[in-house]
Amino acid sequence: MMLFESTRDASHRVTLATALRGGLAADGGLYVPERLPPAELEGLQGAETLAELALRMLAPFAAGDALEAVLSEAASDAFSFPAPVTDIGSDRLSVLELFHGPTAAFKDFGARFLAAALERLPREPAARFTVLVATSGDTGGAVAAAFHGRPWAQVVVLYPRGLVSARQQQQLACWGNNVRTLSVAGTFDDCQDLVKGAFADPTLVERLGLSSANSINIGRLLPQMVYYAQASLVLAACDRAPPSFIIPTGNLGNALACIWAREMGLPIGDIVLATNANRTVVDYVAAGIWQPRPSVATLASAMDVGNPSNLERLRWLDPERKSLRGRLEAWAVGDEEIRDTIRRDWQELGHAWCPHTATAACLYRRLPAAWRGGRWVIVATAHPAKFDEIVEPLIGEKLPIPDSLAEILARRRIERQIAARPEELHQALLEYR
Ligand SMILES: *Cc1c(COP(=O)(O)O)cnc(C)c1O
Repeated sequence: MMLFESTRDASHRVTLATALRGGLAADGGLYVPERLPPAELEGLQGAETLAELALRMLAPFAAGDALEAVLSEAASDAFSFPAPVTDIGSDRLSVLELFHGPTAAFKDFGARFLAAALERLPREPAARFTVLVATSGDTGGAVAAAFHGRPWAQVVVLYPRGLVSARQQQQLACWGNNVRTLSVAGTFDDCQDLVKGAFADPTLVERLGLSSANSINIGRLLPQMVYYAQASLVLAACDRAPPSFIIPTGNLGNALACIWAREMGLPIGDIVLATNANRTVVDYVAAGIWQPRPSVATLASAMDVGNPSNLERLRWLDPERKSLRGRLEAWAVGDEEIRDTIRRDWQELGHAWCPHTATAACLYRRLPAAWRGGRWVIVATAHPAKFDEIVEPLIGEKLPIPDSLAEILARRRIERQIAARPEELHQALLEYR
């Protein structure tokens, strides 16, 4: 039996199903597994598909829980698209492509697993379940796509009007049916305040069965370990040495999954975190200083996070920063370097990066020569065509659009506009059923 505890109080323990449904612990902490079980490498190596690997990797976390019996189905439902590792250039450099899901970004893995798991957990037939999510761009699209067509759930997505890219807006507003999109006249912070306000209203929470499904839900973190397991096993078998990863980082969810996978014993070498100008994580890793600050807007907007919530999980893992020392680095990359990297790697390698992935590609070039010996993996968090307005002018060409994105772009946009006022959100929520 595996229980999950709050980062703020180890005696506050719940089952996995409760952690998945609840999102945040009642004391405001984040759920973490009471221990990280050692990976059975031989068993994992025998998995033939990503879904099979997910089942084997995640089974210990579901042990004794209601999810255990349906984990196999949930894994097949969620891991229905690949996470290929491709080689690039002539060095021992690879790319882990996490953008083959419905919204062309890595968040599809976590969002789809959470939706697939919740679908199969027992619930009262008449109970309502409403996911309310504020997004600055990518999260809302992934959550909407993951829950769309699952009639037991209602999804309400709030985004700041005019502050997301045209293609992101389309991904937020093209769903309909059980997904409603509210375009808010305000900033991302306004959207988040509206959502927080709704959660602070017990009658609303009760009536709608409000749930957050946001990036701090443990159900989004655990499945992200699976693609690191796959990539590291394949590359370590081929090189006879563990590969190292460079990961574009904002709220630290994606990178934390890699750190946890390494703690479990997967063959992973160094981990380098790439941030944009929002350098809270960089200062923490370098000096142990946790200094949240207001976020600044950058080209890699999905990483514009000034107070990364998952730092709390990192500190839980390694409060003294002992075990991670020398095995975890973090560096910041400015907008000018993002542009230069996109231009240069297009010219020199024929490879187009999204602005987020470009932070990792930039750091690869910045690695000290002594580190370059082994295999490095750049983690590609989104498809560049999703950020065509930024990337195409830099490379001077049109990017081909992946099929999943083309499908979304062809849909009709359905959204409702509201002012950034609690009464308007309230009104919209109550009209939904
Ligand atoms: C969300 C996102 C990130 C940052 O991931 P975190 O888990 O928040 O660190 C990086 N790149 C893209 C494209 C994203 O959507």
